[in-house]
Amino acid sequence: MLSNNRVELILVEKRYLTPRSIELTYKGEDPIRYIPGQFFSIEFTYQGQTKARSYSVANGDCPTADNQLLTFVITLVPDGAASEYFKADEIGSKVAVNGPFGNLILPKASPKRFIFIATGAGVTPFRSMLPELRKRIAEHPELEVIFIQGVRNREELLYADEFLEFTRLTTNAKFLACYSREENIDLSVNEQIGYVSNCYADLDANPENDVVYLCGHPDMIDQAVKHFDQQGFKPDNLKREKYQFSLL
Ligand SMILES: Cc1cc2nc3c(=O)[nH]c(=O)nc-3n(C[C@H](O)[C@H](O)[C@H](O)COP(=O)(O)OP(=O)(O)OC[C@H]3O[C@@H](n4cnc5c(N)ncnc54)[C@H](O)[C@@H]3O)c2cc1C
Repeated sequence: MLSNNRVELILVEKRYLTPRSIELTYKGEDPIRYIPGQFFSIEFTYQGQTKARSYSVANGDCPTADNQLLTFVITLVPDGAASEYFKADEIGSKVAVNGPFGNLILPKASPKRFIFIATGAGVTPFRSMLPELRKRIAEHPELEVIFIQGVRNREELLYADEFLEFTRLTTNAKFLACYSREENIDLSVNEQIGYVSNCYADLDANPENDVVYLCGHPDMIDQAVKHFDQQGFKPDNLKREKYQFSLL
């Protein structure tokens, strides 16, 4: 899904969600359209050079025709250009964004089950899908939804309270947190030690019934695509957004 809308936005809210992740909310003068799951390319100036990095829309509410806000979450990487820029960015500063881009969006018709797998900030497009998923579950209570979020430890979970609240809506929704570096886990609240890939076997995924969404670290996406390809999944039921690092 291509777009070439370039607009200026002003930073109106900034907060740390975790020690390594910042949520930034920008406002435009005119309405900003996007479909939950899409991303924008943000232009910023760092050390005298104009750079661009992509960020998924993390807005938690249903997009309206007059929406002027865009929320993004950046997980900081050491010495990263965008990481340093957004750390220092202050309320009132301006960036230009291009977009929206991307096909990581919900299909018109729901499958029997949605499986959403993310690492780190890759969970943000799924956060922006929650309002639409709520509507679909209200219409079709039998719809199953599984969220799997992989992070280093519990402290790094993003929007876990919102995903857990969502799972309380229906007996057919589950949230699973996978920690690669956590020592104390609580199995009763759906926590697991290890990478998200440790959960794939238990999913018993079936291309007839499931649509799988993958978002986040490139290595996780490559591994997962290999796994679900072998299960018979094709691009229309295996959707992905790879958070590929920029070379510029
Ligand atoms: C379609 C798309 C959507 C994206 N959405 C998001 C998003 O919503 N939130 C988000 O945080 N990021 C997202 N990314 C990644 C983002 O665009 C940047 O690549 C990331 O923020 C790092 O940028 P930087 O300028 O800080 O680091 P850079 O200056 O690009 O890199 C600095 C160093 O860090 C390494 N590095 C970069 N990223 C990582 C990483 N994730 N893990 C380990 N090492 C790394 C690089 O190899 C390099 O050595 C997305 C990427 C794509 C392609």
